[in-house]
Amino acid sequence: MLYSEYLVRSAEDVCHFCNPRDRKFIENEGAFLTYGIAPYHKHHLLVIPKRHVQSFMELARDEAEQIWDIIRKASAILLELGYESYTVVVREGKNDAKSMKHLHYHIIPEEHIGDLDHEGNKRVVMSEKEIQAVSQDIQKAMQKLTFTGL
Ligand SMILES: [Zn+2]
Repeated sequence: MLYSEYLVRSAEDVCHFCNPRDRKFIENEGAFLTYGIAPYHKHHLLVIPKRHVQSFMELARDEAEQIWDIIRKASAILLELGYESYTVVVREGKNDAKSMKHLHYHIIPEEHIGDLDHEGNKRVVMSEKEIQAVSQDIQKAMQKLTFTGL
């Protein structure tokens, strides 16, 4: 079954991360470690927060620490399996039908993220003018934030 078909079927079902059917390798109070059923790589691991949240921003600090603990253990497992590198990707659930609606973390060995941009084009180094525009956007966003509670 294609992952896209799985997601359509899952949307009509209960949350698979709140009601896990897949093997749990490790767990603590806040999260558990399982595998990617539609993996980018053979040993693609997933860390799933136990509480159903869509965004990283919804996590309490203690939940984030529990998730971090499982991510570190997942990373150690991949290194023990012989991989030299891995990539951690935070996947929020606010992305319509592109992924599960429950925040999760991919821990992917030997992933080569970075050759293409988000539109599938080869990445290019920004010009000084583009860097200035991006910097201004970030500065404007920071001026509106107080970072209280973060
Ligand atoms: Zn859920």
